Amino acid sequence: MYKDFDFSNMPVVDAVNEIIIESVEHGASDIHFDPTDEYLKVRIRVDGVLDTFTVIPNDLKQNIITRIKLLSGMNITETRLPQDGAIKTVLKNHNLDLRVSSLPTKKGEKIVIRILDYSMSLKGIEYLYFSETNYKKVLKMISVPNGIILVTGATGSGKSTTVYSFLQRLNVEGVNIVTVEDPVEMDIKGINQVQVNSDIGLDFATVLRSILRQDPNIIMIGEIRDSETARIAVRASITGHLVLSTIHTNNSLNTIERLLDMDVERYLLASALEGIISQTLARKLCDKCKKLRPTTNYEKQLFKKALNLDVNQLYAPTGCPQCNRGYRGRVALQEVLPINQDIRDAISAGVRKDELRKLVYTKDVITLLNDGLYKVLAGFTTLEEVLKLVDIDDSIDIAKDSQKIINNKPNELINPNDFIDTNNNTNNNNNNNNQQNNINDSIAQIKMTLANKQEENKATNLTPNLDNNKTNLTPTLEQQQNNNNNNNNPNTLESGFNMQDSFVNMNTIK
Ligand SMILES: [Zn+2]
Repeated sequence: MYKDFDFSNMPVVDAVNEIIIESVEHGASDIHFDPTDEYLKVRIRVDGVLDTFTVIPNDLKQNIITRIKLLSGMNITETRLPQDGAIKTVLKNHNLDLRVSSLPTKKGEKIVIRILDYSMSLKGIEYLYFSETNYKKVLKMISVPNGIILVTGATGSGKSTTVYSFLQRLNVEGVNIVTVEDPVEMDIKGINQVQVNSDIGLDFATVLRSILRQDPNIIMIGEIRDSETARIAVRASITGHLVLSTIHTNNSLNTIERLLDMDVERYLLASALEGIISQTLARKLCDKCKKLRPTTNYEKQLFKKALNLDVNQLYAPTGCPQCNRGYRGRVALQEVLPINQDIRDAISAGVRKDELRKLVYTKDVITLLNDGLYKVLAGFTTLEEVLKLVDIDDSIDIAKDSQKIINNKPNELINPNDFIDTNNNTNNNNNNNNQQNNINDSIAQIKMTLANKQEENKATNLTPNLDNNKTNLTPTLEQQQNNNNNNNNPNTLESGFNMQDSFVNMNTIK
């Protein structure tokens, strides 16, 4: 994606504009301006990977940095202290919301521009790449009237997108949904969102106590970070509220441990916890250029050991003008754990972690590794990506015990249609931003409103592609129920939600 700009024949204003616009069109989430001895290096982050985009001659360095600081409302005479700023503008039909920060390094000021895309909207649970089994578990989980559902994962794993999708599904007339967030990442119509403001003492716990006096049905807590929030969340859920939140852990088992470490009473947690969804984001193979290749011995053994499948070929990245080295967008890997009575009893009784592990990872649970391996077989991503994200030594024993969700024959690759995935077939998305600005979804339209200092909201860039006119985007409840009753063959759902029909073209998670 490297590009040579003719900076010497370009006004500074144009140079900055061009860099921003081209980055946006590449689907970047961040632009870095790194001062070095030789030049000002510009790097952009696309699908989570930071790559050099261009270099600016050092004699233009100061003008470029000053221009960006000016645009973002920073003090241009201050170069020794870090500053924050923002740019809101329309450039070449791109409605831009940029968060800018400067950091004084030894080589000069480093600028990072975070790109928030106002045109995106959240499309719903069907677009999150849940396997059919997990999708059904999730729908069942969020249909309970009270309890806690936690979405867990590292920073930048797309937790917020998942929670917002759940809220979107639950957001109907007759339900009072209140959120407490830091920051509020997207505006959701029909939902009461509260921004934490610690400067004036408005913290999660304070807001939560007030929310409980506001006759809520559903409460969303942006993140459970401390003991007090955890305890109020649990108490709220056992007094008849559905509580959704995120927590920074890497799998279901660790989430339970973490909550207990936060001094949540065992018997309360055992009764309150309804489900845990652990997730991470892998880069998605470009559909235009991915190619089958034979598997190595190691890969054969891995698939045999983890899934008991003989796999002789896998998709590999190639690289074409429409992607970044064979990848484009991202795909979520998930582990969905509904809390059953055995797990409740174990939490309540305080059993050891290894005992709890046996109860959590029964044959009914598709582990993060298994889900990843199935998505490799389906050609969504590569084994390399999955192995970067999932600790295989830790997971392989669990994976072995875990149930095979898709009864595919040896030597056959899994059909991508076996996943509740509607993000497939990304192509010709580069010129969609104009169209995106016109999107006015009847589905809850969710916009990014505030910069998230963490990488997490990179995962919220779900941008639809308008050249698909399929209307069956969100199955009706009736269709979902039909779907639930019809789980024997994921390829041939006879009624209701037909996955083939529901495939739509979308840009995937950035
Ligand atoms: Zn490609």
